[in-house]
Amino acid sequence: MDLDGKIARVKELIAKREELDTELNELLGGAARERRGPKCSIRNETGHRATTCPTKSSAALTA
Ligand SMILES: [Zn+2]
Repeated sequence: MDLDGKIARVKELIAKREELDTELNELLGGAARERRGPKCSIRNETGHRATTCPTKSSAALTA
């Protein structure tokens, strides 16, 4: 299998995995994802992501 073939196969498998993840989440009511929840990597806080971190946004406002 050449490189292009491998890349195409990888994309195919990733798309299939996303399809499976979506269906599993629907079947489980998103419980698995909700339990883990979003986690902020800036201050190790749960409930939000680093991209939506209030610390980060307030710092951006004062900067
Ligand atoms: Zn945060």
